[in-house]
Order: sequence, then structure tokens, then C-alpha cells
Amino acid sequence: MGRLPERIYLDYNATTPLAPEVLEAMTETLAEAAGNPSSTHAEGAEARRRVELARRRIAEALHAGDAEIVFTAGATEANNMVYHAVACASAEPGHVVLSAIEHPSVIEPAAAFEREGGRVTELAVDETGLLVPGALEAALGPDTRLVSVILANNETGVVQDMAAVRAALEGHAALLHVDATQAVGKWPVDFEALGADYVSLSAHKLGGPKGTGCLIVRAGAPLEALVRGGPQEKRLRGGTENVAGIVGLGVACEVAHRDLPGRMKRYAELRDRLWHRIESAMADARCNAPADRCLPNTLNVELPGIEGDVLLQALDVEGVAASAGAACHSGSVSPSHVLVAMGRSPEQARASLRFSVGEGTTPEQIDRAADLVLEIVARMRGEQAGG
Ligand code: PMP
Repeated sequence: MGRLPERIYLDYNATTPLAPEVLEAMTETLAEAAGNPSSTHAEGAEARRRVELARRRIAEALHAGDAEIVFTAGATEANNMVYHAVACASAEPGHVVLSAIEHPSVIEPAAAFEREGGRVTELAVDETGLLVPGALEAALGPDTRLVSVILANNETGVVQDMAAVRAALEGHAALLHVDATQAVGKWPVDFEALGADYVSLSAHKLGGPKGTGCLIVRAGAPLEALVRGGPQEKRLRGGTENVAGIVGLGVACEVAHRDLPGRMKRYAELRDRLWHRIESAMADARCNAPADRCLPNTLNVELPGIEGDVLLQALDVEGVAASAGAACHSGSVSPSHVLVAMGRSPEQARASLRFSVGEGTTPEQIDRAADLVLEIVARMRGEQAGG
């Protein structure tokens, strides 16, 4: 990251620095488009033009032609909006189904839905984090209204088989909600092909700014304002638009889908380089995701007997930024709900670290980070052995 040139940033799943094209477009918008998009004068029209251009860029990059795109303050708000829309759409609370490895911004709205009288079923995952075959079919009932499946998990990078999810929902009235926050720019995301009713994303995971995201909604799916108070976004999200943020999201989506196969290959080479260096020196290291269905930039690794938090702090001191589980959980001692759902013990979960590479990562950084991990682990194990 720009201001910390000596550091090795391997936490792109927590957030990414701005892509240069995004910074340029946002800076230009902040300087040149000061109007309020709701104003009818020329300044307002210019701001509006930029917001609508961003919407078209997102629709094009993610093949969301006829869908509604509602700008939000990020995926958290977008995910909350889905649960709000579903709760508002019927007097009968009914039933929702979600995978056990959703982000807290899905888990917590689902818990609120349950407190308000709804029924909630969590779908089990196997030891790689993939949905257990048949679990969704078994969970669906006549009153199931919504199914949430995270496309790519933020902690492990596991990518769900959405064709299997669609097949399970075939002929069923339940709406499909896909949190694609971690997938955009690292895995193909095509709204039409996903067959989802709702797709959420956050700009800062793909080279865009923090605090901006959107919910993509299939035409006709229930939708209800969560933030009320104005005519913006067709009355679906009150409040003056974050024009520069929205411009940044539009450009970030466009850039993220430019040469996606090339980027995926580059990321996978860096990630695999890190894994091979760790694995070749530590026979008991274990990768917490299936090799063939994982984000190419993510390595979640268990280093048995190691306190992940302690290793992370030592790495930070040496100039390497990584993460234990999700960034949202850092500072909390409870083991990752994702790893626990995958059958890991609390000790195994605490011994797990996430490294996630991105645009600024180089092979030299990977080698240095791997050396530091191995050095610190050897020291920690030596101290343990020495009592
Ligand atoms: N979903 C997933 C899968 C995420 O990784 C995140 C960010 N950690 C979110 C939702 C929430 O995004 P934001 O904090 O930008 O609202």
C-alpha cells in the first residue's frame, strides 16, 4: 500500500488499495462534479450522469442488463436490505435458509428474522467448506422464501457450486440471494448466469473505495427501502448519493472484469508459491479450502499448534499484514464460525491464518513472507518445546 512501501500487504480480502483508474476517476469527480444528483440544474445533471454511467458500467461488467442496481454503503447494507425486503413482502414470516459460512452481515439479519417469528435453517458444509450435497433440497419447505448462499467465502476462499444450488431450487418459489462480495474481480460473476434474485457487493474488495457497494436485484423481486428519507435510488435508498464512491465502484467493476482469466492466473501463481514454500517446510500444514474450488488469491492455512493471533502480531512487526479469519473478527478470541462449521476444533481454527494476494503482490514479497512465517513458526515451536 502506497504509504507503507516497506510492508508486504497480504490481506486483500479485508480490503484493497484503490486501483489507479479508480483513484483518477474519483478525484476527477470530486473536483469537477460538485452538484447534487437530485438537482435539476446543469451541475445536478452532471452528477446524475456520472451516477447513471456507473450503474451502466456495473450492469455491463456483471451481465445485469435488466436488473435493478441499488447503490448502498457496502455489502453489509445490501445484505441487510435483502432480509428487510423479504420480511416486508409478506405478513407471514415464513422460512429462510442460509449456508453456515455466510458473512455476519447475512447471519445477523437472519437471526433478527428468527427473533421476529421466522424460521431459519443453516445449511451444513463439508470439511472443505462446500455445501453438503442434498442439504439444500432437504431444507426447502413450502414456506421457504429466501435462500442465501455466499459465492466465495471471505475467510477460506471456497467457491460454492451455484449450478447445484440452482438445480436444487428448480421449480421452487424461494428467492436466491448470493453474496458475491469476495468473488468480483477474482472469479467470474455473471448476474444472469447465476440465476440469483439478489447479488450484493462492496467496492473496496475490488480496487474501489470503502463505504460503497450495491445490491443487484432481479426485475420483479421484492424490494423495500431500508434507509428511508428521500427520492434517491427510486425511493429505495434515501440520502444524497455518494457520487465519487459510486463512480469508483463503476470503474472498479469495469477494471475487475478486464482480463479476469489473466488476473486469476497471476493470483493463483502467487498463492500457490506461498503454499508450496510453507508446505515443503512444514509437513503438517494444511490448506483450509479445496484446491479446485477456491478463490485464486486466497490461502487459508492451518499451522498445527500455532496461535494464529501471536503469529500474526509477529508478522506485523516484521512488516507482513495478513489475517486470522475475517478482519471483522480480529481482536475477538472466538474461533472462526466458518472453520468451526467445517468441523475444525477451536484449537485448529485458532491455528489458522489467511493470506490473500492482490494487484500489488510480487513473487519476491511472497518469498520474503514465506521465510518470515517459517522462521517465526520455528521460533514459536522452539519456545513451546523448551517449555
Ligand atoms: N460479505 C462478504 C463476503 C465480505 O467479505 C464482506 C466484507 N468483509 C462483507 C459482506 C461486508 O462488506 P462491507 O464491510 O464492505 O459492508
